[in-house]
Amino acid sequence: MSLDEAAGSENEALRLDASDPLPPPRAEFLVPPAPGGPHAEAAYFAGNSLGLQPRAVAGVLREELDDWARLAVEGHTRARRPWVDYHELLRDPAARLVGALPREVVAMNSLTVNLHLMMATFYRPAGERVRIVIEDSAFPSDSYAVASQAVHHGLDPERAVVRLTPRPGEDVLRTEDVLTFLEREGGTVALLMLGGVNYLTGQLMDMAAITKAGRAAGAVVGWDLAHAAGNVPLRLHDWDVDFAAWCTYKYLNSGPGAVAGCFVHERHVGDPSPPRLAGWWGTDPAVRFRMDPAIAPPASADAWQLSNPPILALAPVLTALEIFDRIGMDALRARSERLTGYLASRLGAARGAELITPRDPAARGAQLSLRVADAGALVRALAARHGVIADAREPDVVRLAPAPLYCTFHDCHRAAEALADLAPGPS
Ligand SMILES: *Cc1c(COP(=O)(O)O)cnc(C)c1O
Repeated sequence: MSLDEAAGSENEALRLDASDPLPPPRAEFLVPPAPGGPHAEAAYFAGNSLGLQPRAVAGVLREELDDWARLAVEGHTRARRPWVDYHELLRDPAARLVGALPREVVAMNSLTVNLHLMMATFYRPAGERVRIVIEDSAFPSDSYAVASQAVHHGLDPERAVVRLTPRPGEDVLRTEDVLTFLEREGGTVALLMLGGVNYLTGQLMDMAAITKAGRAAGAVVGWDLAHAAGNVPLRLHDWDVDFAAWCTYKYLNSGPGAVAGCFVHERHVGDPSPPRLAGWWGTDPAVRFRMDPAIAPPASADAWQLSNPPILALAPVLTALEIFDRIGMDALRARSERLTGYLASRLGAARGAELITPRDPAARGAQLSLRVADAGALVRALAARHGVIADAREPDVVRLAPAPLYCTFHDCHRAAEALADLAPGPS
């Protein structure tokens, strides 16, 4: 590309930012300094791994620390946001985020813990129906979790866990292949638990169609929404999903290791029969402090809570959810499609990088995954030479996620120029 062309495309990116129909609330986030290159601020594309800190978090945390200092144990009832039912503050915004009824969601624990709590209830292998289906490119924590659940039931994980693979030569699963598998082998499937957006390829699954087919086959359908929550609109209630869990430190910007979310469909809440791992926060708050030895679970996802929640860890989640609530997932998704579409359209000059994420905007979220020769080296050079923060999944995948809350078209321009410089391909 000539200097004139580079300047032309930079001007175009600046024009797109200036005329953005939904200017992002970037100023509400702390964008890290660039580790290298000519720009002061990083072009941050790792929000799918750890979202940026909202400026408001520090103030909210300060308030909780002050209330703890001032009120000590009285803070449970007298803090400005009383701790005893603090998690209630997150319920409505979390429900709107994932398309759920308020009583279907709860903020608790971490993602993998929630997947286990859900499987403790919903993975009930019996007779022929014993298998757990995941995708072959599942995040390792999910692989370990389902294998350990199989072992927990006395099953051989090699046989109980099925890993769905793309067709030879392809990178992502085809919905039709998942549906065909369920038609043929659904009678042996106890639990189907896929990622809503795949962490490696960025593929957005057709959650409505797959949930419908899984349930028609008699399986329980759960979704890991680590890369979907805050990235794409979700309709968990209408899709009839049995359960779902998600972390909040990726697109949801709630801080490292932040408290996760969990969804249990209305048809399961209030049913006293399913086996649950129980703790005192899973009993009805109206009778909790009677300290009865027998649990009285409420008719909500709260029945799966174990412990009183970490207030200092919930505060950033509350702050972050308020931003999503204000903008709305549908508007954010529209901006995300424009932004990611723009980045995808600019990748042509990086001939040493092959896009493995689907090109159809309806089949991906914000993330673009590129197959390159040496992902680690490329990611280090992107940061050091251009101030572009991406991440590597060794050996050969680089992930770039223009998070629509704070990334700009100019950030995408910087990433495209940097990739063209570092992964030019054979000339
Ligand atoms: C990020 C991620 C995790 C991480 O699990 P934690 O329990 O939050 O540490 C698990 N599964 C998927 C699919 C992920 O993307």
